[in-house]
Amino acid sequence: MRGQMMNQPLTITSIMRHADAQHGSREIVSVTHDNPRHRYTYTEAFRRVRKLANALSDLGLKPSDRIGTLAWNDYRHFELYYGVSCAGYVCHTINPRLFEEQISFIVNHAEDRCLFFDAALVPLLEGLVEQLESVRHFVILTDRDHMPETSLPGALCYEELIESHSDGFDWPDLDEHEASSLCYTSGTTGDPKGVLYSHRSNVLHSYAAALPDSMGLRAGDTVLPVVPMFHANAWGLNYTIPMVGAKFVLPGPESGNPGALAELMQGEGVTMAAGVPTVWLGLLQHLAKTGQRLDTLERTVVGGSACPLSIMDEFREKHGVETFHAWGMTETSPLGTLCTPKSDFDSLAHDAKQAVRAKQGRPVYGVELKITDDNNIEQPWDGQAFGSLKIRGPWVADGYYKLDKSSAHDSDGWFETGDVATIDPDGYMQITDRTKDVIKSGGEWISSIELENVAVGHPQVAEAAVIGVQHPKWAERPLLIVVPDSDADLTKEAVLDHMRGKIAKWWMPDDVVFVDEIPHTATGKISKLKLREMYQDYTLPA
Ligand code: AMP
Repeated sequence: MRGQMMNQPLTITSIMRHADAQHGSREIVSVTHDNPRHRYTYTEAFRRVRKLANALSDLGLKPSDRIGTLAWNDYRHFELYYGVSCAGYVCHTINPRLFEEQISFIVNHAEDRCLFFDAALVPLLEGLVEQLESVRHFVILTDRDHMPETSLPGALCYEELIESHSDGFDWPDLDEHEASSLCYTSGTTGDPKGVLYSHRSNVLHSYAAALPDSMGLRAGDTVLPVVPMFHANAWGLNYTIPMVGAKFVLPGPESGNPGALAELMQGEGVTMAAGVPTVWLGLLQHLAKTGQRLDTLERTVVGGSACPLSIMDEFREKHGVETFHAWGMTETSPLGTLCTPKSDFDSLAHDAKQAVRAKQGRPVYGVELKITDDNNIEQPWDGQAFGSLKIRGPWVADGYYKLDKSSAHDSDGWFETGDVATIDPDGYMQITDRTKDVIKSGGEWISSIELENVAVGHPQVAEAAVIGVQHPKWAERPLLIVVPDSDADLTKEAVLDHMRGKIAKWWMPDDVVFVDEIPHTATGKISKLKLREMYQDYTLPA
């Protein structure tokens, strides 16, 4: 017997309608290159979204055409998210920090018909234009007064494009399984791969993200995603924030400027912010230097790479801010796990609490995790056994755009994350490495991430990375690469002394090198690939 409930499609349009009807007077505040503090309401935003949808129709686009964006987090990018997806096109967010060849590969692979981009990116696109085969329209996200000179063919000005159009638009009835958005993974090897989200996957992911033990968002919050809109829909926050009706604060081109971020957070009363550890490290250093306070901030969600306990401790102890560690991937929309406390957390001793906080967390309802060995045998949830981490759920990619899915999924259809992890008896998962970064020493695995976490706990270490280098006896041994604080007088022995006793003896790095800078990928993660290239001929001390 089938249930007799309505089959209302789960579409992004429904999030927009809800936010408009219920939270119309809530503000969206943005920094943009042409306005240091733009503010308007959801009602005004969606009025412009309807004008945009009419403008897109007039550009002669077909349903499901891909429309690329290269833009920072601001209100025009927000409008594109809704105008494009709700009108039945696919919003293809592109990371402007990728290599130029990657950008042209991605645009051509997706067959983007239009590109909408920040004015600051005009030179980038002028350099690429000859290679962009499918693009018919170039639209610069600015107004007439700030329109730059450009050789881009027929370049349009966003404000002029939408201005003359009606603010009435009859949104199409979309199938919830239709593609809404597309995001390519940065991919450290091979060509970038496209993850094609559906309306349904984004709506379900937003429900899960908003849950109290997830990101715990509510109408009274003021939320600032530092995580870029071109990275897995700003961790889905572009949908979750309007869904709950929180005030939306967008840092635009200032996301990498700790001073500007602190001012924005304090000035707009931000209660929750989300970003990668590097962002918080910079912000905390700025706060320590200036003595500035973040009076309204209650919590941060930190993910993208492992968050050192030192960041969480400083947030909690100096600023009264709780930090929640999260793990996910572009392929998982991205929320997989969040480290929120279970009922017995408060009764734990300090060290036990710290051990929980360091983990990436437990799966939110909707996704399931497992860890397996090389023979696809499931490993126990004892917090000790390592295994390849696999995930499944309605917001996990079932394949890559235009690619065969077999390479990323196991024979049972679980998605292979490429991460190595443990899961403890309470269901908390801890990433110990990327499959290709784990250091295989004498047949045993050493977690590069754990070594990095311990090393950055040294007060004079600004950043640390660990890679495996060749060893005649053990195959590979860990090399620790450290960026010391600018005014520090740090020695190898001091770093190793700090690590001793905190990790197994045989995990101790065989050597430490000091550098001014560690290379990062376009999404801000440590580039182990680059480091391995740099140190491929490195000889460890005897
Ligand atoms: P991306 O698809 O670019 O978001 O990258 C996803 C990858 O980032 C994951 O597979 C992990 O390797 C890594 N990652 C994400 N969050 C964390 C975290 N909290 N701790 C460690 N690694 C993480």
